[in-house]
Amino acid sequence: MAGKIMPNRLDRAFYLYQEELEAKALEVLRSGWYVLGPEVEGFEQEFAAYTGSRHCVGLASGLDALWLAFKVLGIGSGDEVIVQANTYIASVMGITINGATPVFVEPDAFYNMDASQLEGLVTKRTKAILVVHLYGQSADMGNILQVCKRHGLRLVEDCAQSHGACFQDRMTGTFGDIGCFSFYPSKNLGAFGDAGAIVTDDKRLADKMRIYRNYGSEKRYYNKVVGANSRLDELQAGLLRIRLKHLPELTEERRRLACRYSQELQNRKLLLPQVRPGCESVWHQYVIRTKEREKLMHYLERQGIGTIIHYPIPPHLSEAYAGLGHGRGDYPLAEEYADTVLSLPLYNGMTQEEQSFVIEALNAFPG
Ligand SMILES: *Cc1c(COP(=O)(O)O)cnc(C)c1O
Repeated sequence: MAGKIMPNRLDRAFYLYQEELEAKALEVLRSGWYVLGPEVEGFEQEFAAYTGSRHCVGLASGLDALWLAFKVLGIGSGDEVIVQANTYIASVMGITINGATPVFVEPDAFYNMDASQLEGLVTKRTKAILVVHLYGQSADMGNILQVCKRHGLRLVEDCAQSHGACFQDRMTGTFGDIGCFSFYPSKNLGAFGDAGAIVTDDKRLADKMRIYRNYGSEKRYYNKVVGANSRLDELQAGLLRIRLKHLPELTEERRRLACRYSQELQNRKLLLPQVRPGCESVWHQYVIRTKEREKLMHYLERQGIGTIIHYPIPPHLSEAYAGLGHGRGDYPLAEEYADTVLSLPLYNGMTQEEQSFVIEALNAFPG
């Protein structure tokens, strides 16, 4: 028996590298240096190298990365930013915290922004596109870059779910002005608490970000701008360095799990995720769609299999954004996805037996 299967098991990925992680934690605890130090610098260099960017700046969270990205680009009140309608609400908050207005675009068949609709949404106020590489798969970067170039728009990438995902051999996060990452524990590269970072090739933007993350000061107690407290701590950075070293094999494992789902799931009631030609997903989530979602969730729950909906309410219908004045029907495809998507259990350290149990249950779902 596989026992109870949860949608995610973060403890498993800890035990995979327990010894190394525990040794690093003790090393940092004993060092006497806890915020912005050698571990953070080491991680920044290694993560920049991993993504193929010139600079990385460690921050306190993925939301801070988005918020501060628009801030250092000078995008705020009166400006519009185009973002996909089916994202996690943090993407939208990164825009609105700065006073800018989100303009939503419908998703494509791969759950990323529909690049073919961007042209019609650009106005005189449009300053940037925020592309979200949702569920671990790169968006259609070729067409998105063309629109940015044609209209002189900034490009910010939300890579909170796409660590290591490529579009035609180039890593997500390196296409735009700034790539924003979250290392929240459940992300593909996860810390043991909150953490985030930006990557960029622009030294001026990286320098500005370093000032903003530390109360707007370059030199202690000399404050240039009204910044934030968004510093990465040594413990998280040290543990992230270990995880980063193992990220290629962790990603390989997710790919094996996803590949098995795609090969062995056979039920006409379920729509399986598609991979965009020229892309290789890092499978942050394995998201299926079904019109009988409630029924399926309860059916699985009765057998001890947990699932999650990413995400049940699209940002334009969220109470938090009632002020934008959107209603049901404004983005029908994003709404349909919100009503039908379901993420299956997929995590590092998932056993073959556990996955077999999930597959058998799904294949036997009578609908
Ligand atoms: C997790 C996530 C964020 C926010 O990251 P935090 O570190 O939780 O602040 C932003 N965008 C997307 C798409 C995410 O999945």
